[in-house]
Amino acid sequence: MPIYNAPTKDIQFVLHDLLKISEQDIPGFDELDPDFTSAVVEEAGKVASEVLHPLNVVGDKEGCVLENGVVRTPTGFKEAFAQMKEGGWTAMDCDPEYGGQGLPYVMHTAAQEPFVSANMAFNMYQGLTHGAYSAIHAHGSDEQKQMYLPKMVTCEWTGTMNLTEPHCGTDLGMMRTKAVPNSDGSYKISGQKIFISAGEHDMSENIIHLVLAKIQGGPEGIKGVSLFIVPKFMVNEDGSLGQRNGVSVGKIEEKMGIHGNSTCVMNYDEATGFLVGEEHKGMRAMFTMMNEARLGVGLQGYAQAESAYQNAVAYANDRLQGRDVTGAKNPDGPADPLIVHPDIRRNLMDQKSFVEGARAFTFWGAYLIDRAHKNSDAEADGLISLMTPVIKGFLTDKGFEYATAAQQVYGGHGYIEEWGMSQYARDARIAMIYEGANGVQALDLVGRKLAQDGGKHVMAFFEMIKTFIKENEGNEALAKDFLGPLKAASKDLQAAGMYFMQNATKPNNALSGSYDFMHMMGHVCLGLMWARMAKAAMEALENGASDTEFYETKIATGRYYMARQLPATAMHLARINTGADTVMALDAANF
Ligand SMILES: Cc1cc2nc3c(=O)[nH]c(=O)nc-3n(C[C@H](O)[C@H](O)[C@H](O)COP(=O)(O)OP(=O)(O)OC[C@H]3O[C@@H](n4cnc5c(N)ncnc54)[C@H](O)[C@@H]3O)c2cc1C
Repeated sequence: MPIYNAPTKDIQFVLHDLLKISEQDIPGFDELDPDFTSAVVEEAGKVASEVLHPLNVVGDKEGCVLENGVVRTPTGFKEAFAQMKEGGWTAMDCDPEYGGQGLPYVMHTAAQEPFVSANMAFNMYQGLTHGAYSAIHAHGSDEQKQMYLPKMVTCEWTGTMNLTEPHCGTDLGMMRTKAVPNSDGSYKISGQKIFISAGEHDMSENIIHLVLAKIQGGPEGIKGVSLFIVPKFMVNEDGSLGQRNGVSVGKIEEKMGIHGNSTCVMNYDEATGFLVGEEHKGMRAMFTMMNEARLGVGLQGYAQAESAYQNAVAYANDRLQGRDVTGAKNPDGPADPLIVHPDIRRNLMDQKSFVEGARAFTFWGAYLIDRAHKNSDAEADGLISLMTPVIKGFLTDKGFEYATAAQQVYGGHGYIEEWGMSQYARDARIAMIYEGANGVQALDLVGRKLAQDGGKHVMAFFEMIKTFIKENEGNEALAKDFLGPLKAASKDLQAAGMYFMQNATKPNNALSGSYDFMHMMGHVCLGLMWARMAKAAMEALENGASDTEFYETKIATGRYYMARQLPATAMHLARINTGADTVMALDAANF
């Protein structure tokens, strides 16, 4: 049975030493003092390790079962979901007007990490509901908000997001699901959606499907897509549940991982739907919540790597194989533990330095979302818009890479189901695909986000790095190991941006380099996070922090990232500079 212990101290470090959240002038942040956040994070960690983690393997083994149109979730899921609701975990950052606790998004994110690490498939039921809540909250009418949000905040009713159809996932302009107006202002929705997470299950009284469909006679392609609320059970004016709507589950997909989450084919057969926002503006409504949803998926990437890493460390300390070449560490035993070997150390340091950097990057992203929403801060809004494809694409690619790296520490045992390591790799794999496949995230970054608002946001990002380096140049301890590598990596990233600009008339050159650029930018972001974390840790030590080992470990882990991971930007730049020639050299027939 795998282990999981919430890394509460690391979470607190990012919230307070790095982001200094309680000192920020953002509404609601003054409540986030270390005692309060510690209590929340500790409790979330307890729920994660005691309630959700034991169900992770159960969910993987049992999966969801469809019987007579009803989906049964794995043993224990229903009870755990009830516990999450009772504990108020589903309502943390939701609007108090609809029963939420109104806490900042960064706090919600900090509490989410242990839940996702402990049981990603389970947490998706609540995660999808939160996404649907956000879309209705941002674009729904007052009446719709009053009718649906209070029950969605508590997860008495859960939510789904229905975009994908059999013939289109990325290119949603080809969507066929149609909406025909009824005389009472509602619509008849007909069509089929596939791969719908949490599409049907037995843990809530009602399911509020958010469905993209085309109103007949509207514009062609993506501009003709509108967003609808389609409840599983119609809701009466007094809030009670009425008759069953024309939506049903066709089948649940057999899949590689996240078996505990029901991934459904949903059939809409003249189901009654209610328009959210304006006609033909459905994609805009969906995109409002994309920054949050994609940040949530990025979190899934590193949160799975965190769980896998914890197990790999335990195994590396336990398993005896070979001898330390510099002298036996376990002379009375038949061999030394794996952890003595430099190659195992390299692997574990890769994982550790990624996960801790990714946590800082994700929480920083959540903090930017708070600044953008609560302070109407345009700079933060621009930055998070730029960072969103990087958080999603880079953290999920690396999350999967390191979940398999953790598996590698187990040797053959990592491949055997009994040890539970393959589940982390299998579960992490989907995060690279859904919520926009990672190749498409890279296109979004290079094709849209770099040039957004005249390139203002990427310039602001470079300026932020430059300022940080300049302000800390005099700090010798930071300069050599952190600022130097950060400067070099940032220069690589700027050179790649310059290459794209100089090749603006040859789009294939930019598109062939977009994936490398996304990874480069991910590395630079984590490099920046590590430089800042190192500075924060050094300050804590100077100020006489009692836990010197914790802070020294942070600095040493950061040094590893800067020395061994960040130089990857040079490789990515070299690839980008070769343009599209080798990428596009073959005719399609030669593949
Ligand atoms: C387990 C699971 C859960 C899911 N949950 C949901 C859900 O809740 N709701 C929902 O609506 N959908 C959901 N999805 C669907 C998911 O979002 C899509 O599968 C994903 O967006 C990709 O779409 P697609 O599968 O049609 O692939 P395609 O669009 O066919 O793309 C195939 C590949 O081509 C690449 N590609 C496509 N276009 C381009 C281009 N122009 N340039 C370069 N590369 C390109 C993509 O990156 C991808 O690698 C889920 C899928 C799975 C497997």
